[in-house]
Amino acid sequence: MIIIMKPHTPKEEILIQKQKLEREGFEVNLSQGENYCILGLIGDTTKIDESKIGANEYVEKILKVQQPYKLANRLFHPDNTVINVKGEKIGGNKIAIMAGPCSVESEEQIVEIARRVKKSGARFLRGGAFKPRTSPYSFQGLKTHGLELLKLARKETGLPIVTEIMTADMIDKFVEDVDVIQVGARNMQNFELLKELGKTRKPILLKRGLSATIEELLMSAEYIMSEGNENVILCERGIRTFENYTRNTLDLSAIPAIKKLSHLPVIVDPSHAAGLWWMVEPLSKAAIAVGADGLIIEVHNDPANAKCDGQQSIKPDKFHRLMEDIDALAQLGSREIYETINF
Ligand code: PEP
Ligand code: MN
Repeated sequence: MIIIMKPHTPKEEILIQKQKLEREGFEVNLSQGENYCILGLIGDTTKIDESKIGANEYVEKILKVQQPYKLANRLFHPDNTVINVKGEKIGGNKIAIMAGPCSVESEEQIVEIARRVKKSGARFLRGGAFKPRTSPYSFQGLKTHGLELLKLARKETGLPIVTEIMTADMIDKFVEDVDVIQVGARNMQNFELLKELGKTRKPILLKRGLSATIEELLMSAEYIMSEGNENVILCERGIRTFENYTRNTLDLSAIPAIKKLSHLPVIVDPSHAAGLWWMVEPLSKAAIAVGADGLIIEVHNDPANAKCDGQQSIKPDKFHRLMEDIDALAQLGSREIYETINF
């Protein structure tokens, strides 16, 4: 961090600042130019309260050299993090495919979809039991009954389950029942929820907020990690822009950016990004091409009658063909997905 003092700042003020920072444990390099005096801080500045320094009337400007997140930062952890969920790896050389309906609707629905996506090579079953809907009048999910049905589908197929948590009071139940806990876009900055999830050791799938910057997403990951849970998977799921042809705008550039800044695995959700079923295929391929560690895709056996997000859900046959293409693409990049089973 670099602190630029205003011209004509009294020498004693500069010394007071320097000593204060040294007392906080930083090494401070003073450099006096013709007009400006600059204090260069050496040490871990992630915990520094910038606003306190900025409140000093003699401070002209503060420049951050280091990112404000530490545990999620690749600088301090050069190797890619690989998260192991019951033997299934997320990160590293494997491409993790999660698939399933937007929401769990019935036993037949979730078990049938789970069987189909598994046959096509998906390694995780997604499905919402608690649904964050824009309208309170829309289907809100089957809630705890939905969790039971997900567990049933896991028992039938062996696929680990990924599902969204909405409130901290459900954490114990989710830790017990679920394999990957999803934090939805709307809760990305629910800091109390993030802190509580940080106290568990469950893998957390953290989705990027509707209008969150990459740095804000990484700071949210830091909330979870700073409580001791380092099993965080990031998810780019499209952001709000002026464009309204698609539901959101898939920020593909976020993938290489996050991979440069952080060691955490990052997956892409093409379904919520586009909001259109026919865009899921090209966006999935693009995501793999730019280096995503996996995909989370909405698949429904009867999209026209889905209780949620049918317009962006692909059918199992289409998912199967997509998986074959993804496999070919992955191999081009010397990566792999697990074998698809022909049927
Ligand atoms: C979902 O995965 O069904 C979902 C609600 O996603 P998001 O939080 O990204 O909108
Ligand atoms: Mn959905």
